[in-house]
Amino acid sequence: MVSRVIPVDTFDLVIFGGTGDLARRKILPGLFRRFIAGQMPGDSRVIGAARSDMGDDDYRQLVREAISEFGGQEKSDTANLDAFLGQLHYVQVDATGDGGWSDLSDLMRPDVVRAFYFSVAPSLFGALAERLHNHGIADRHSRIVVEKPLGRDLDGARALNQTLAEHFHEGQIYRIDHYLGKETVQNLMAVRFGNVLFEPLWNNHYVDHIQITVAETVGVGGRGAYYDKSGAMRDMVQNHLMQLVCLIAMEPPGQFEADAVRDEKLKVIRALQSVPAHHIVRGQYEATETEPSYREDADNPRSFTESFIAMRCEIANWRWAGVPFYLRTGKKMRARSSEIAVVFKDLGHSIFEGDVARHRNILSIRLQPNEGIDLQVTIKEPGPGGMRLVDVPLDLTFAEALGEDAEEVPDAYERLIMDVIRGNQTLFMRGDEVEAAWAWTDPIINAWEERSDVPKLYEPGSTGPEDSQMLLHREGRRWRDIKA
Ligand code: NAD
Repeated sequence: MVSRVIPVDTFDLVIFGGTGDLARRKILPGLFRRFIAGQMPGDSRVIGAARSDMGDDDYRQLVREAISEFGGQEKSDTANLDAFLGQLHYVQVDATGDGGWSDLSDLMRPDVVRAFYFSVAPSLFGALAERLHNHGIADRHSRIVVEKPLGRDLDGARALNQTLAEHFHEGQIYRIDHYLGKETVQNLMAVRFGNVLFEPLWNNHYVDHIQITVAETVGVGGRGAYYDKSGAMRDMVQNHLMQLVCLIAMEPPGQFEADAVRDEKLKVIRALQSVPAHHIVRGQYEATETEPSYREDADNPRSFTESFIAMRCEIANWRWAGVPFYLRTGKKMRARSSEIAVVFKDLGHSIFEGDVARHRNILSIRLQPNEGIDLQVTIKEPGPGGMRLVDVPLDLTFAEALGEDAEEVPDAYERLIMDVIRGNQTLFMRGDEVEAAWAWTDPIINAWEERSDVPKLYEPGSTGPEDSQMLLHREGRRWRDIKA
């Protein structure tokens, strides 16, 4: 296959929190894959910056171990790994003190792209931004990368945006939602806006409803204390599911360019209706014989936090009026599976015998596992014996046709980091989007808190509380299966 790697300029990427979980699990293995793909120019550097006292060699060893633990096939490429590690450095810095900042300043080079990944608790963002500015390390071409949680309510998000805005302008701030970096999510935009076929059908005349499911099999385990202050609504819906809703529902932007895309997403968020209580089902997983309950995991016997949520939303605009968007996400579900399904309306009248409603066009966008897009179409079952109809999936990913090797498709983090280096903000959230999303989320959460809403219990390994099925059943619809 012809290489489609687009070169980037030489860069210095500083990872604050370079010894932490996110850096070891995602950022560094991702950078290594981009290195192998030839996207890290030989004189580019990755500089880990954290509190631990260590030298370059200790840090390289830490990264070697991280790649061995969290990397994919590429981890056996030892020659490349040694070369990659040679481009790594480490500086001990204290985000809240003065230690290490002049060392970092001395390391930085002029005339290369400077990017700073804030892979630390958001409470440190302000301190980092201020020191980068005061020590002259960040200039007006530098970029900073931040990610969730971007506040836990509208006030918090506003405060965070203001803090960052004191030292960086919006064009320098890259707010990551890794869902936007997924290959399939971008393919969704290509399918929608690159074909004449879909756009005429993409509205309330032809779409019956949309379903978005993000199901995980893991519980809140080790991060129970953190999660308990958050819950599925804050942790998943306000950001990831909301971004997916935006991409499905937005109007075609004038061009595929950062602000044009983000303007359209913002309009969707602002058009989301408030959701009445009877359109929301919250759940908490129970214990099994061998595994603890949510409350035990969270170490909070009176916790009212939801580890599952299902909801029915509506978007008040001409395109989507009356089309339900059903969202659901949860922990300890039957399978790890994320999917967006655009379910089209029935034919209305069929010239064939049988149950017409059984045959529906469904565009399914699978984010995990087995990323891909397929369109369910109805055809004639092959062979003699009359006109029997059968539904088959039409694969729109064309992996084989494009000679695509799954291992070569960059994962979300590596793609997004390269976009930061390129200075392309299209797949990053703008500050006003984040605030608008909280403005929609806050009243829903406040209402639960005011009435001490108790989540329904559900069995681990299930599809969530029974009531979530009812959310669709009472409207004559059903959730799609959650399957791996
Ligand atoms: P972590 O606790 O594993 O690592 C924190 C890092 O920050 C360490 O390298 C530590 O040395 C450094 N640090 C802490 N205090 C510091 C200080 N005063 N000065 C300099 N460095 C300091 O955390 P994590 O899981 O890597 O998460 C980092 C951020 O990314 C958090 O905001 C988290 O919410 C977010 N995040 C993490 C994940 C994930 O998968 N781990 C996913 C999404 C978002």
